[in-house]
Amino acid sequence: MQSNGKFTEARQNMVDKANRALYAMLRHIPPECNCKTFIYLFRTCILPVLIYGSEIWGIEVLDENKWDKTTSEKLHLKFCRNILGLNKFGANLACRAELGCFPLLIDTKKNLIKYWLRIQGLPDKCLTKQAYYEQMKFNLPWCSSVQNLVIDSRIQTSKTDLNMKNIDKTLKENYITFWKQNVNQENTKLRTYAKFKNTYNFEFQFYLNCLPKKHQVCMSRFRTSNHCLAIEKGRHTQPKTPIEKRICNLCSQNKIEDEVHFLLECDRYKYIRHELLTDITLTNAEIN
Ligand SMILES: [Zn+2]
Repeated sequence: MQSNGKFTEARQNMVDKANRALYAMLRHIPPECNCKTFIYLFRTCILPVLIYGSEIWGIEVLDENKWDKTTSEKLHLKFCRNILGLNKFGANLACRAELGCFPLLIDTKKNLIKYWLRIQGLPDKCLTKQAYYEQMKFNLPWCSSVQNLVIDSRIQTSKTDLNMKNIDKTLKENYITFWKQNVNQENTKLRTYAKFKNTYNFEFQFYLNCLPKKHQVCMSRFRTSNHCLAIEKGRHTQPKTPIEKRICNLCSQNKIEDEVHFLLECDRYKYIRHELLTDITLTNAEIN
């Protein structure tokens, strides 16, 4: 703990350790390994390091809107991008939705509530319980933050309803609501993604496990708008190119080079497209 009562340095220390553990893990696993195995290993080997002690320091990072900027979540997102094969511009909301991963904020909140529940069950003379009463008496931040968390999460406070399964479900549902609000905003990087992924079923996407690694990376990059089409390249020019000027220069249609143009319209790819569509319609009668 620092002299100002914060745990910033301790959190950074854990992120550094988790970072080393993550790269040691990645070095020993072949990159073509199943994405689900990577996620499993992350949750069993790296996550416990990242959220160690979060039942105490968790109150410092409870703001959903600022969570993605915390060093712990940055490492988690780096891992998600790494297994999907995306570069640093890969959108956070899309990365998680492709892999069916929730932000680590949910694990942090669960740790806080679990610890709070444990304190509730302690005998009054126990030192920890005494310290908790002191927190309540002086309205100190830990106690009030966890109580607000329980209320904000609309988790029933009657002891019979308070089980971790219900809490987990509620926290995930709340995140899905937050995700939907953000992914459906207009003119964002996720404008194409929102067209085919407008419900957050939070399932690991099937294609991640059935395609060869090279093709999986192409598919992930295309789905999450992490590619080199003009619509994305224009976003990173200095100054930023207006959307209506991000025109395809591979054909004469004078259209914005976005995912729809690339996939269905651009003349440059019409022979490849025809070949592939013929193959698809032969094997899938419902597509024409
Ligand atoms: Zn074109």
